[in-house]
Amino acid sequence: MERKLILSTGNKNKVAEIKDILKDLSIKVLSKDDIGINSLHVVEDGNTLEENAIKKAKALKDKVKCMVMADDTGLFVDYLKGEPGINSARYSGENATDEKNIEKLLKKLEGVPMEKRRATFKTVIALITEDNRTITVEGECKGYIGFEKRGESGFGYDPLFIVDGYGKTFAELGEEIKNKISHRAKALENLRNEIANLLKDDGDEDTSHK
Ligand code: IMP
Repeated sequence: MERKLILSTGNKNKVAEIKDILKDLSIKVLSKDDIGINSLHVVEDGNTLEENAIKKAKALKDKVKCMVMADDTGLFVDYLKGEPGINSARYSGENATDEKNIEKLLKKLEGVPMEKRRATFKTVIALITEDNRTITVEGECKGYIGFEKRGESGFGYDPLFIVDGYGKTFAELGEEIKNKISHRAKALENLRNEIANLLKDDGDEDTSHK
């Protein structure tokens, strides 16, 4: 029977991107919503992206028998000693929005010249196998934080992040290019390799799962 991988994210864009990257593996990829799990209460209080990704994956694994994965992403700005980092989603406080987070970041970098605005997007993905082995992979993308928002596509900090080698923000580059070069794309490529190895290692074993 075909093995299943359940994604902890409910974000439709992420689900589509993950399904696309893993499409040539003989594994069925489903979101938690696809299997009727609508809410998972996870407090993201880890000290690293890795801790938070594992926490989210474990919360989902408690509910299903098949393989699960969860991701955590952060934007690390050198000049701000790694801020917003693991707090990227909640950077502007309790009721944070993309807009407010961007505003806060621009304010913190007011007067800082371009060469000091180096930043790295990092994604960590935690995969937990049917027999509870945890595997983590990561991906990074380097660039600069712009002086103002540029571009319309994407989400989060995309309008501010000027990607090395392109001179454009993720929001200007658009989804098709972003999904080939982003931190998440790189992490997913690494995940793809890990899953391919797992499938190969497990060979002809009985793989009937829930
Ligand atoms: P999450 O771990 O994907 O939930 O993201 C944490 C924070 O980083 C949120 O504020 C997101 O909006 C932001 N973020 C995550 N991925 C990206 C991205 O690819 N581009 C811009 N912002 C992102």
